[in-house]
Amino acid sequence: MPTPNKHALLSASSAHRWLQCTAAPLFEAQFPNGTTDYAEEGTLAHSICELYARKYFTTVTKRKFNSELKKLSESPYYSDEMLKTAEAYVDYLKQKALGYTAAPYVTQEVQVDFSDYVPEGFGTCDCVMIGGDTLHITDYKHGKGVAVSAVGNPQMRLYALGALKMFAPVFGGAIKNVSMGICQPRLSEEASEDFLTVEELTAWGESIKPVAQEAFNGPGTFCPGEHCRFCKGKAQCRARADQHTAFEDFKDFAVEGKVAPELKELSPEAKAVIGLPPMLSDAEVGDLLTRAESLVQWYKDLQEYATATILAGKEIPGWKLVAGRSNRAFKDVDEAFKAVIELGYNEEMLYERKPKTLTEVESLLGKKKFAEAMTDYVVKPQGKPTLAPLSDKREPYSTAASDFAGVENG
Ligand code: SF4
Repeated sequence: MPTPNKHALLSASSAHRWLQCTAAPLFEAQFPNGTTDYAEEGTLAHSICELYARKYFTTVTKRKFNSELKKLSESPYYSDEMLKTAEAYVDYLKQKALGYTAAPYVTQEVQVDFSDYVPEGFGTCDCVMIGGDTLHITDYKHGKGVAVSAVGNPQMRLYALGALKMFAPVFGGAIKNVSMGICQPRLSEEASEDFLTVEELTAWGESIKPVAQEAFNGPGTFCPGEHCRFCKGKAQCRARADQHTAFEDFKDFAVEGKVAPELKELSPEAKAVIGLPPMLSDAEVGDLLTRAESLVQWYKDLQEYATATILAGKEIPGWKLVAGRSNRAFKDVDEAFKAVIELGYNEEMLYERKPKTLTEVESLLGKKKFAEAMTDYVVKPQGKPTLAPLSDKREPYSTAASDFAGVENG
């Protein structure tokens, strides 16, 4: 395989975006490849996961493991939590490996080439496992902001296509099924998984070929949507701005398709006289909530961009940066408390004894021991009702009214 460029124009991780907005790859190419603390943390967490996986699946000596881990833990992005998440990642891999009837072939950090489907496409798959008739790929996600589902996930499918291409010469036609797992331990104890036959996967690969070619050749078609969220051009993209500034519906508090056609034709003055119903219908509220969701996200992206621009010494007309709210704090708590005690107050009055949280106790005992010994002491009350779109994967909130529906007073 030729040595690829460091960044593929059509990367697997951005496939969710370029499959929907074919203009995105070339548009994004004009923005620098900056990094964030989150990205640095993610890279480090991946390295720790890989080290733990190598320790379990290969012959890494204890000494080598400890010295590599020590080196990684010296990073400013390191946190002890990364050891827990690496354990959870390896637990998942172990569980998958044990699902095979014979020990599978397992390899980590595999650079896969999916250029048969996507021009110049390549990427790095965290773990590939092959045994019997099944290829399993795993991707570790360190983020805890957005839950990433493996179901229909194009990044996973592209990695799987690349892994198939790489291992087909070794395993021949033995591989008939593909399973894909996303392990995101900071967000969920359960990995998200998806399963396809090899025929289904390759048919999907064929189906995206023309879209990938359009995105690669450019100029493509701008198509704003939920996928703009991680686009490098999200703050300055005109198509996205047009989508939001074209919200004429907000002006009249009426929603497209819900207003009688004859009323839509009226001038604003005539509407002011005749008037639309003063009360929004629930259908309109639902529609406006959906529209406003992306509007709010877009506004946040604009704020973030403007803040970075002003901090870099440039101007955003009409805006400036001010110091945000800050709270008073002791310069040195020990010194401050010493001074209070010298004033005649008892030391006990300065401290309170607080129980550790459930998560802290679980860290203390370890997940396994905690599950064995503490289950009877744990309750999980229903969380506060939170508004979410119908597409949200969580179960609908169970209201007291519905819980007790059918129970008669008496
Ligand atoms: S912000 Fe959205 S519409 Fe604009 S290029 Fe990026 S993905 Fe496409």
